[in-house]
Formats: sequence, structure tokens, C-alpha cells
Amino acid sequence: MKIIIHGGFFSEFLQTKAIKQAKKAALQKIVLESYAYLKSHSALETVVFATKLLEDEPLFNAGLGSQIQSDGKIRMSASLMDGVSKKFSGVINIENVQNPILVAEKLLYFEDRVLAGEGANLFAQKQGFPYFNPETPERRADYKAKKAATNTGTVGCVALDTEGRLATATSTGGKGFEMPGRVSDSATIAGNYANEHCAVSCTGVGEDIVSAGIATKIVTRVTDGQTLEHAFQKTFQELATFDGFAGAIAIDYHGNIFYQESHPTMVFAAFDGEKITLFC
Ligand code: ASP
Repeated sequence: MKIIIHGGFFSEFLQTKAIKQAKKAALQKIVLESYAYLKSHSALETVVFATKLLEDEPLFNAGLGSQIQSDGKIRMSASLMDGVSKKFSGVINIENVQNPILVAEKLLYFEDRVLAGEGANLFAQKQGFPYFNPETPERRADYKAKKAATNTGTVGCVALDTEGRLATATSTGGKGFEMPGRVSDSATIAGNYANEHCAVSCTGVGEDIVSAGIATKIVTRVTDGQTLEHAFQKTFQELATFDGFAGAIAIDYHGNIFYQESHPTMVFAAFDGEKITLFC
């Protein structure tokens, strides 16, 4: 049983000591709580559980406290993937819900599993998700200063359960200050991918993550026999050819945990039941 979660990148701007400490404490609390949950739940249930907790923490750029786009609106994206059934589901640019990951989870059991924009909003309403405004005064201040573009901080979770099943979930408020209609990597197979060999969740600049196809490439390389470490190295070398900006967390079938970032500093926490690794 293994779990790793990430809280995206530190913003250049909000890197005060107090915020660093608060993020560290939040990651530690959430990784331990999620590990306890994993003891009696599947990897799939646990990645949703952990991602919901991360979305509810306004320090991170997902759910409550999401970044604001250039037209002043918040549009969020989230996805999950079950390494057993290989089903991927997600929402792209959804508005006014508290937990995009819960809407993505609902979609896993529908035939049409990825919905965007108005379709995603309508689906959430029909499924009884109540109206929720995820804006915080801090994000509005970022927006006003037009500095939100430097504040990355998506969230994600990868888990391996007691039965050796892998799953991954990723949720984001986007890059900040983007053009309405822009599609994040977080609800694509570049940003979030899993099978029975490996599961990966990414953060960083969505365009770079998609260009490098990070999550799906790492999983494919591990599936074809590379070690998790080599799969990361090769994929991040390819990302470096265009100076792409990204970080990723992963677990393979053997329970190896790995993470890498192209630039400082992705914040994450991992727990294997004995040792907590906290990087903030
Ligand atoms: N990957 C996200 C996006 O580009 C942003 C992030 O990871 O912070 O939408």
C-alpha cells in the first residue's frame, strides 16, 4: 500500500515562509488521512478522496481557491483513471462546483466519460451538485495584479491499494489568467494516466505537459519494461529539449514511488505506512 500526492508548484510570488509552512502542514495531514482511508478502500476510491481534500484546501489551485481566467471567471478541470478497468473520466472547464473530481468520478460510470464547458456544467447540475463559487479573496487579488500566471499549484494523487491496484486523479484551476476555452492537461492522458503497471499525475504548464505527453509516456515505458526511474529520465529529457515546465508523481506495480520536476519546486508528500517524505 503506497500513496503520493502533490500540490503543484510554488508560486514565485506567494512563497512566504508562512505559506510554505501551511502547505507543508496541509500536505502532511492529507497524505496521512488518505493513507488511513486506503487501508479499507480501493486505490480508485482513495485518489478521489485525497483529491477532494486537496481541492477543499484553498492554498492549492484546484476546487476552492482556483485561479481566475483572463475574463474573470473560474473554470476547473479534473480527471481520474482506474488502472484496473483502464477507464478515464474527466471534466474540462467546469464552473461553479465545489469538487470537480467528484463530477469526474460520476462520469466514470457513464458511456460519455469526458465532458467540457456547458455540457459539464449541465451534467453536474443534473446530478445534483449544488452551486458553489470557488473564488477566494487571495485569488481575486492575484487576478487584479494580473500576476496569477506565475501561480501554478494543481493537485493530484496516485495510490496503490492492498490488492495491488493502481489509480490516479488530478485537479486544477488552470494556469491562471488564461484565455477562456483553453484546455488544461489535467483532464487529458498527458496529465493523468494509469494502468496495471504504473500510475502518474502531473503539474506544470499544461501546454508543455501535452507536448511531452508525460503521464502516458511514463506509463507506456514502464509497461514496456523500463524501470520507473528510467521512464522518468527519458521523458524529462524529452521535455527538456524545449525547456518544458512540469513535474510528475508516480507509483509502479512493485510499489516504487518516483517524482521529478523540470524546475523548482513541486510540493508533494508520500507515505508508505512507515516513512513520510515531504517536499515543500
Ligand atoms: N497543469 C495545469 C494547467 O496547465 C496547471 C498546474 O499544474 O498548475 O492547467
